[in-house]
Amino acid sequence: MSVNQSAPPVPPFEQPQPIYPGYHQSSYGGQPGSTALPTHYGAYNGPVPGYQQTPPQGVSRAPPSSGVPPASTASAPCGQAAYGQFSQGDVQNGPSSTVHLQRLPGSQQFGSPLAPVVSQPALLQPYGPPPTSGQVTAQLAGMQISGAVAPVPPPSGLGYGLPTPLASASGSFPNSGPYGSYPQGQALPLSQAQGPPGVLPPQRSAPPLASNFTSPASGGPRMPSMTGPLLPGQDFGGPPVSQPNHVSSTPQALTPGTQITGHPGPLPPMHSPQQPGYQLQQNGSFGPARSPQANYGSPYPATPTFGSQPGPPQPLPPKRLDPDAIPSPQLNELPPQQKTRHRIDPDAIPSPIQVIEDDRNNRGSEPFVTGIRGQVPPLVTTNFLVKDQGNASPRYIRCTSYNIPCTSDMAKQAQVPLAAVIKPLASLPPEEASPYVVDHGESGPLRCNRCKAYMCPFMQFIEGGRRFQCCFCSCINDVPPQYFQHLDHTGKRVDTYDRPELSMGSYEFLATVDYCKNNKIPSPPAFIFMIDVSYNAIRTGLVKLLCEELKSLLDYLPREGGAEESAIRIGFVTYNKVLHFYNVKSSLAQPQMMVVSDVADMFVPLLDGFLVNINESRAVITSLLDQIPEMFSDTRETETVFAPVIQAGMEALKAAECSGKLFIFHTSLPIAEAPGKLKNRDDRKLINTDKEKTLFQPQTGAYQSLAKECVAQGCCVDLFLFPNQYVDVATLSVVPQLTGGSVYKYACFQVENDQERFLSDLRRDVQKVVGFDAVMRVRTSTGIRAVDFFGAFYMSNTTDVELAGLDGDKTVTVEFKHDDRLNEESGALLQCALLYTSCAGQRRLRIHNLALNCCTQLADLYRNCETDTLINYMAKFAYRGVLNSPVKTVRDTLITQCAQILACYRKNCASPSSAGQLILPECMKLLPVYLNCVLKSDILQPGAEVTTDDRAYVRQLVTSMDVAETNVFFYPRLLPLTKSPIENTTEPPAVRASEERLSNGDIYLLENGLNLFLWVGASVQQGVVQSLFNVSSFSQITSGLSVLPILDNPLSNKVRGLIDSLRAQRSRYMKLIVVKQEDKLEMLFKHFLVEDKSLSGGASYVDFLCHMHKEIRQLLS
Ligand SMILES: [Zn+2]
Repeated sequence: MSVNQSAPPVPPFEQPQPIYPGYHQSSYGGQPGSTALPTHYGAYNGPVPGYQQTPPQGVSRAPPSSGVPPASTASAPCGQAAYGQFSQGDVQNGPSSTVHLQRLPGSQQFGSPLAPVVSQPALLQPYGPPPTSGQVTAQLAGMQISGAVAPVPPPSGLGYGLPTPLASASGSFPNSGPYGSYPQGQALPLSQAQGPPGVLPPQRSAPPLASNFTSPASGGPRMPSMTGPLLPGQDFGGPPVSQPNHVSSTPQALTPGTQITGHPGPLPPMHSPQQPGYQLQQNGSFGPARSPQANYGSPYPATPTFGSQPGPPQPLPPKRLDPDAIPSPQLNELPPQQKTRHRIDPDAIPSPIQVIEDDRNNRGSEPFVTGIRGQVPPLVTTNFLVKDQGNASPRYIRCTSYNIPCTSDMAKQAQVPLAAVIKPLASLPPEEASPYVVDHGESGPLRCNRCKAYMCPFMQFIEGGRRFQCCFCSCINDVPPQYFQHLDHTGKRVDTYDRPELSMGSYEFLATVDYCKNNKIPSPPAFIFMIDVSYNAIRTGLVKLLCEELKSLLDYLPREGGAEESAIRIGFVTYNKVLHFYNVKSSLAQPQMMVVSDVADMFVPLLDGFLVNINESRAVITSLLDQIPEMFSDTRETETVFAPVIQAGMEALKAAECSGKLFIFHTSLPIAEAPGKLKNRDDRKLINTDKEKTLFQPQTGAYQSLAKECVAQGCCVDLFLFPNQYVDVATLSVVPQLTGGSVYKYACFQVENDQERFLSDLRRDVQKVVGFDAVMRVRTSTGIRAVDFFGAFYMSNTTDVELAGLDGDKTVTVEFKHDDRLNEESGALLQCALLYTSCAGQRRLRIHNLALNCCTQLADLYRNCETDTLINYMAKFAYRGVLNSPVKTVRDTLITQCAQILACYRKNCASPSSAGQLILPECMKLLPVYLNCVLKSDILQPGAEVTTDDRAYVRQLVTSMDVAETNVFFYPRLLPLTKSPIENTTEPPAVRASEERLSNGDIYLLENGLNLFLWVGASVQQGVVQSLFNVSSFSQITSGLSVLPILDNPLSNKVRGLIDSLRAQRSRYMKLIVVKQEDKLEMLFKHFLVEDKSLSGGASYVDFLCHMHKEIRQLLS
């Protein structure tokens, strides 16, 4: 975060802000688009009877009439117009995108060449028939996956010659054109729908069909019959996903063993009649009419053509499968040899890579303008800029859905959690302006008298501007005289665009003394470095490394705005089983040490000279940092204390009457006699028992009480752990967790291997901007309220999230529930207010506002969901659940909820179709794959190599992750390095996280935000090996290598550059591990190939999808 210090207070707001061009080109100036608050707030902006005639005064700009939201805004692309259309009673859902099924070629590549997978039968296993055997498989017969709604109207000019608007708006068959003859929602006669196994009635349309389908003659919608049972020797393929703008492949015919990829071109069109064994066109029923069974060959000769005009067979329907369908032949229809070959084509099921790519292509080029209520932002994986026009940027708030059901009944029916992931101090890219700081002087920020909401763009001014109605609680408030301003004819204040709090989604207020603890302006915060100097810390070289680093790092303490030096004071403590405080007062020639051995009753032995300014005391501090490693170099002390260390730091801050942060560097289980003493209670036998939860719970309540004291003092704790064995992370991380701090863990730390990672994390951690002594409150408009919170904080009541410290990486996830009916017209509003002390000691309020739509149709909910956010919420919910429930219960809950969400969609939003289809809402088509990753994560299904500490560590990390972090954490990025031309230095397109995607002639990077692997295929070219590793053959590469040699050749430069760039994108340094194919380290790497079956028993993506389908069918039957 960078708090914009220099932003002028309100009145000077007149000057154009360089960083925010256009800010001042308010709509008064008739500049369309850039500023106008959208029409959606019409309710608030509406003219007030009797007052609207008051002409705005003192405005020398264009007449207020031009302030009417410009048409360009009103017609914003995804805006209401689109919703309006959607809501026209269409059952279906949008330009659907269908998940398509493509054969994974052995010979051709999907994106990247595959490893000679075919030659390694073992690799294929995960995709074999679900191990659950016949039952699940049978369920799958005919299973189809379809992404249904695409919330974004399809770009025009797609190349289907059909009128697109309808298609896009309704997501169903266009009512005209070749599809016109299919009334929406028309159900197939059961006999047909359930006819031949695998026959699927066309369900919602997929406008984005290949262009071949646009010709009316080509037979219209995919004929279910196309998905008919496989004939011996046939295989399935299908057209690619019908993303609205997907230039889809030509329909393709598959011959036995042929596998097609999503490549549009090269394959022969399906209608090539010469396909052996495919008796598609026999009865010519592939006319425009829907005749699912028509073209079944002999097995179903009598199937009625169902109203089809036995049209001219000419433009033979492409021989293709229903794009909505995952064809899956029934086993009993297949000859024996087919049965064994049967599997679901992994390319046929929704691909995270494809969804990410599509979103990048569709939404990465235009800025995301926040003026429109309820807009779903681009995915977190897309690079985009944000223009704040009245709603908080998605960098600050992301929601599980941007359209909330009006009633709690609807919400319960859908089971879609309503949650917002809020990152109040998120840092922004340099192109985006930090929130403006507004100073209302002594009167402080203007608030609603009743609900205390802060002034924001949604407040409605009435009575000529003398009063305003609160948008959260409807209370009518007087406008203080100094804040009075006239309204224009639309009821909007004429100074709207001069005031961030009236026109922007995010801004800050300077807080008055009323907002300070004890009504006292806070002192600047302090940092205290607390270093374990026991035997282990000295022996590993940690203490020496750390002290050396601090000498220079302390010049980079966070400072505000243009401040010359940081206001933060610093202090030092070392400890083993006793504590040593240091007096580093600038007037001293040498630092002085004071030992406190009474750890049971911790006190701070000195006040003056403990917390100092780095510049003033530099010489003494340097001397201290030089001496510490020496002083303890001969130590034999192996025991440590821990709680007294935190206590001491907290007491020191209390004595100095300031907030601050403790940086604790700790190596071992604190077994010395002292408060907070711990015992080794690690017991892996508890895994999968009812007592497993105890492994995640702290072993003593002492740390919770301590944390509570810390929060009261605004004392945030960051913990760096360097354990050689079990240290009970679950207990040690309690205080960091409850104080908004961070935990870092470097197991078996060795300077030579781990210093880069540690120092990089330390530098970032020390330098990052932090808000101290913070309180966050989320207010909502009538009808919903915040009911649950997830993250690193403390709550002493049900509404206030207390954070001793909050940095720009931390998020708070908030869940909402209905307490009344919502209104479609007024929508729902959120306001997150964070009161905090800046690193210069200034008390501020950061406000984020977000308006959401409300719906009475479930389809609108499903059309405006964000799966990445949903997964963030569900993971946090589950990871908290393991504290109280058996892991299996938690997993079952997740699966059930997911099935309910999808079943509700199926029942209420999807067009009728055979039960054999799995229909997924477009916005949630990745829900199963991502949820499976959560289910098989180390917390919910640990592998044998995962330690109890690892699990506790990851559990608390995920608790504060933002949506981008959970996304890559659960579904790692796998990047092929030698596929793209060497001179192409942009990040290569990722491939799916599955062993099947690895080619043994290639090299890949895999990262998940915490881990980074470089996987080297066994057949990789010798030149590549030489260029990257400087050895002559694969066998000479050192397995487990963590640093690539710096070689001056294009490949080496490119790969090392890419590694640096990946690291720069993450909040923690990822240590590299080089893994060779077939090497034992490969097991570790394979753990991250999350689409595959995991060693710990986690299902493969395909199997999980089958399972999910079964669950959904059970719910529906
Ligand atoms: Zn209010």
